[in-house]
Amino acid sequence: MKFNTSLLHGNADNLTFGSTLTPIYQVSAFSHESAEQLEKVFNNKAPGFAYTRISNPTVDSFEKKIAALEKGIGAVACSSGMAAVTMSLLNILETGDEMIAGAGLFGGTIDLFGDLEAFGIKTRFVRHITAEEIAPLITDKTKAIFGEIIGNPGLDVVDIKSVSDLAHSKGIPFIADCTTATPYLINAADFGADIIIHSSSKYINGSGDAISGIIVDSGSFGWDFTRYKGLSPYKKYGKFAYLAKLRNGIWRNMGSCLAPMNAFLNSIGLETLGLRMERLCNNALKLAEFFESDGRVTVNYPALKSNPYYELVQKQFGGMGGAILTIRAGSKERAFKLINHLKYAVNATNIGDVSTLVIHPASTIYTHSTEEQKLHAGVYEDTIRISIGIEDIDDLISDFKNAIDNL
Ligand SMILES: *Cc1c(COP(=O)(O)O)cnc(C)c1O
Repeated sequence: MKFNTSLLHGNADNLTFGSTLTPIYQVSAFSHESAEQLEKVFNNKAPGFAYTRISNPTVDSFEKKIAALEKGIGAVACSSGMAAVTMSLLNILETGDEMIAGAGLFGGTIDLFGDLEAFGIKTRFVRHITAEEIAPLITDKTKAIFGEIIGNPGLDVVDIKSVSDLAHSKGIPFIADCTTATPYLINAADFGADIIIHSSSKYINGSGDAISGIIVDSGSFGWDFTRYKGLSPYKKYGKFAYLAKLRNGIWRNMGSCLAPMNAFLNSIGLETLGLRMERLCNNALKLAEFFESDGRVTVNYPALKSNPYYELVQKQFGGMGGAILTIRAGSKERAFKLINHLKYAVNATNIGDVSTLVIHPASTIYTHSTEEQKLHAGVYEDTIRISIGIEDIDDLISDFKNAIDNL
């Protein structure tokens, strides 16, 4: 099966009564015939559902679909993308541990890594997530390398294979936030990423109608149970140890579960991921080319020939550059004016919607960040982030052209 067919016929559905979609199991608890049966379900000795914070058929179906799509051995869905980032790390990190991450991360993730310092988990940031920049920072304490495959909004692209190779040579997993790349552009597991995360609120959902996140385990990382001590009680699960700990431990106990309704909405969105991404990437490239030829604002888009990541985009993503571009308008005032003049593009803090969205990151998502953090994330006073939509490209180009004419 190719990509679009697998989205529809991947067969991860919990179907009853001939329903063509997994229904929304909007219940908190599941009853069982006998006390013996519930005991088995609770102790992972029989399949079944007990309580929606632990598992639910609608959520299970969403998890299986994403796991299959990302070629992983399993997935755990979370209440949000931030919950997925948090749980993926807290599942293996302890006080005294360190991780290495790219400086050009999503604002919420940078804030989170600051929060984790209070628990004795330190993050060392590199300007770019490359093997060359990471290598000198690795110590005995380094337990994870974390990066966004296409940084939001810096739009730096990670060479997954070279970073994974370095991480593996040091016995460290590479945890990849693939939100902006989506499984349409890449299966990061094929290039060596060990744990794959999505804020499925974005492209997987597609319509901006439900927050969710998901963690996929590629199953390929060989955990050293003496280094990752917390995983040792789960040794008997073999390559499923990471997922077993997550599901039976911190994810469940922190209550990071995904609501069945939101799992349903994200499963529906997933069906059109391929169609939307094809359109979004084409629109993004055309709009980026317009900005470049127009010349009145500067543009950053990884699939432009003039972009330093062009070659990597060809190699890793088959030439597709994703659905985010940024422009620099010259000053904060001009950026605000441009945004205010747009007719179709909606001024909102989200990405991955079918409608085009714009935002001024410096005054919003990065308002808590230091000047240095903003600089490293590619957020300048005059930067506008554009999350392209599926509108007709001629309308979008004329909308942006009008707004620039008005400056
Ligand atoms: C939005 C986003 C997140 C956080 O996801 P939520 O669903 O908003 O919690 C994490 N990483 C990236 C790259 C994002 O764009």
